[in-house]
Amino acid sequence: MGLATCRALARRGLRTLGLEQYDLFHDQGCSHGSTRIFRRAFAEGPDYSPLVDRAYDLWRELETESGLELLSACGVLTAGPKGGPTMAAVLHHRGQQPYESEVLSADQIRERFPGIDIRQPGEIVGVFEPSGGYLYAERALEALADSARAHGATLRDCHHVASWREEADRVVVETEEGTFEAGSLILTTGPWAKPLLADYGIDLTLLRKLVFWYLPEREEWIRAGTMPCFRIESPYGLYYGVPDNQDTPEEGLKIGRHDHSPDLLEFCELESGEEMRVERWVDDQEDRVRPMVEQFARETFAPALLGTKGADLVPGDMAVRQYSMSPDGHFIIDRLPDHRRVALAAGFCGHGFKFAPAIGEVLAEMAAGQPAPAHMRFAGIGRFGGCRTA
Ligand SMILES: Cc1cc2nc3c(=O)[nH]c(=O)nc-3n(C[C@H](O)[C@H](O)[C@H](O)COP(=O)(O)OP(=O)(O)OC[C@H]3O[C@@H](n4cnc5c(N)ncnc54)[C@H](O)[C@@H]3O)c2cc1C
Repeated sequence: MGLATCRALARRGLRTLGLEQYDLFHDQGCSHGSTRIFRRAFAEGPDYSPLVDRAYDLWRELETESGLELLSACGVLTAGPKGGPTMAAVLHHRGQQPYESEVLSADQIRERFPGIDIRQPGEIVGVFEPSGGYLYAERALEALADSARAHGATLRDCHHVASWREEADRVVVETEEGTFEAGSLILTTGPWAKPLLADYGIDLTLLRKLVFWYLPEREEWIRAGTMPCFRIESPYGLYYGVPDNQDTPEEGLKIGRHDHSPDLLEFCELESGEEMRVERWVDDQEDRVRPMVEQFARETFAPALLGTKGADLVPGDMAVRQYSMSPDGHFIIDRLPDHRRVALAAGFCGHGFKFAPAIGEVLAEMAAGQPAPAHMRFAGIGRFGGCRTA
């Protein structure tokens, strides 16, 4: 969000300084890793549609500018029990705000994607969006940084913002490396926004998330194009994943669990406090999450991962990442109620990446003194009460 905002500010000709506490592409926050899904099938509600449309155009524009492929349109399948919470919301939203997509039955899913066979009781329905796919996340971050710099932004890594204060005509930011002054400050601090949001009575929940890769029995069936990106609801959670991508074809099929039901919270919630670095070692969390993921994988991708020989799953890599969840599951993007020169964007609830260039534009407009656009009201801080408590 920070890089996209720096780019949007610099493109408006505004003098822009981006400060990052670690190195620019570190692995401690929410944004690292090889891929992120780009989809329009929202169970999260129609508020996200204008943002995703704008983000799509901006990613494609950045591709032209950088000469790099950033968004691979291998399609996205969202599927699950017809009356279940995910598909009920996705089908309802699709009816309200149609986008290019097809509704598929379980048989049609099997025919279309030979690596997928959803073996769940009850009627399964899917929505397939051909223009969805995955973003090459690392490449996208580098392209945003390069473009921000090319448009005149200064990006400084290893600059931890220790404090800031608003004065009548400026904002003053303190780091160990120096003091900086600006007309506006935009805080895109991801999980590190937790203490500031707590001052406004907003509890950001930080979750440590594990992502797994499985090696295929039938490699051709997990290739992007034959296998889409997916979000599939099962009786034991909402899972997502990405097919083999061209950058790292040896990795296999990526699968993660998106939801954070109470049974998961107890062992994936991160402590708040000074030190919020995600532990890279993996403990009993793996023992609890891996069996769920593997049960889902066996019941969903048997043709691709198990083949006909009845062999079991072959685990590949595993990674640790971080979600920051707002109390109501929606983004928080607004000026701080008591600081007209300071805006904040946080609480992206495990699905913010795809929107980054569009959110950068919204924040840049706020910094330039424009009111938040009407379609962003859903993300306002006022919905939580918005009173500073500390
Ligand atoms: C496992 C996983 C899968 C996901 N899948 C998808 C997906 O498929 N599609 C999708 O759209 N989204 C997805 N997301 C969500 C998406 O990745 C996040 O919403 C997005 O990356 C959030 O970015 P951010 O900039 O808010 O946070 P971050 O990337 O954490 O950035 C915050 C930055 O602020 C810096 N910072 C904090 N405090 C300070 C300070 N005091 N001084 C200086 N710098 C500071 C941090 O170091 C960090 O670099 C996924 C997330 C995870 C974890």
